[in-house]
Amino acid sequence: MDLQCEKSETHGPFEQVLVAVPAPQAHALLAPHAPSFAHPLAAVRMQPCIALMVELRARPSVPWDAAFVNQHPVLSWVARNASKPGRSADHECWVVHATAAWSSAHLEQDPASLVPPLLDAFAEVLGAPIDATHATAHRWRYAIPEAGSGAEAWFDATLGLGVAGDWCVGGRVEGALASGMQLGALTVRGGRAAD
Ligand SMILES: Cc1cc2nc3c(=O)[nH]c(=O)nc-3n(C[C@H](O)[C@H](O)[C@H](O)COP(=O)(O)OP(=O)(O)OC[C@H]3O[C@@H](n4cnc5c(N)ncnc54)[C@H](O)[C@@H]3O)c2cc1C
Repeated sequence: MDLQCEKSETHGPFEQVLVAVPAPQAHALLAPHAPSFAHPLAAVRMQPCIALMVELRARPSVPWDAAFVNQHPVLSWVARNASKPGRSADHECWVVHATAAWSSAHLEQDPASLVPPLLDAFAEVLGAPIDATHATAHRWRYAIPEAGSGAEAWFDATLGLGVAGDWCVGGRVEGALASGMQLGALTVRGGRAAD
């Protein structure tokens, strides 16, 4: 199989091509060439997440390092990065996730313009004003799969074409690892799709 890039140059031939991108992007790339993948890839819906990385001047006086934020109009999750294993406590950095609904509603806005409302929401969750030394918003267009694809990975032995990702089995890094390992096993076994 040859790969043709946007600028028309080609690479290959390759015996096998394995793709590990979000399902909607994989669908755009693969559906015209691999009809067996088109249906399962099209079925996967992925929600966006606007994420805020913020450095505070001082540690907030809350008795927790992370929280699911239930029924908040803007935020779904906040976590203190310095509390994670192996992270430096020199900087008081937090990661803040907007809800899928709020992220969808603001998806096409310049992420920089979303910093003030996200900081306001974070202050509300902390219950105190925020003194931020740095804040950056990032748009994850394909962040959270709504449901699995029905298999841990997909591989067409006739084409030598496979696809994997966290969206096959759920939106966590463990799912990405399981999917990648399953795709590796399928390439050896020559299976079509399995779990
Ligand atoms: C804001 C956020 C926070 C998260 N926090 C956690 C957490 O704390 N713990 C946890 O377990 N999980 C977390 N996750 C989930 C975790 O990041 C994912 O489950 C994991 O990264 C999925 O891995 P993946 O290899 O399937 O896909 P990805 O990591 O999304 O990798 C896909 C790659 O493909 C690239 N790509 C896309 N299209 C193309 C193209 N056309 N050509 C070339 N490259 C392309 C992308 O740039 C990307 O690098 C978080 C996710 C988000 C969005």
